[in-house]
Amino acid sequence: MFDLTAPIYSNETAAREHLESIRWADGVYCPHCGGFDDIRKLGGAAADKGLWHCKPCCKKFTVTVGTVFERSHIPLTKWIAAFHLLCSSKKGISAHQGHRMLGLTYKTAWFMWHRIREAMKTGGLSNVSRRWAARARSSRLTKPSSAGRMASLRLAVRITSAP
Ligand SMILES: [Zn+2]
Repeated sequence: MFDLTAPIYSNETAAREHLESIRWADGVYCPHCGGFDDIRKLGGAAADKGLWHCKPCCKKFTVTVGTVFERSHIPLTKWIAAFHLLCSSKKGISAHQGHRMLGLTYKTAWFMWHRIREAMKTGGLSNVSRRWAARARSSRLTKPSSAGRMASLRLAVRITSAP
């Protein structure tokens, strides 16, 4: 169901926490080194950006690293809404309609639609991201290479099945 009043469509923190709960259902892992240990949420101003810190590799990250949302200036609330629009409509929705419905410029909507379609092309609602996480856990040397990126794309598609 597409409940437009849900906080994930209007509140950036709620949207990010929603993504975190999907991506890290089995626990937070570092998208840089694949590690699970010594990861903590940063406080203060960094908390507003959803930053986490991995002690073993000394890198910071957010839930969007390695996903279709990475380095995007478009609010996550709009991304999630776009995913829902695209996946909940039987005949699909054009970028032009997305631009009108979500209050985006046509150029932005076109870019998002392109990325989302790419993400959807990589497969169905598989559990690859979970499998990849389990593998990363068993081998600390595993890096989020192409498999990790693919998993992230699939994860992006899975958002559509969330409330
Ligand atoms: Zn790390």
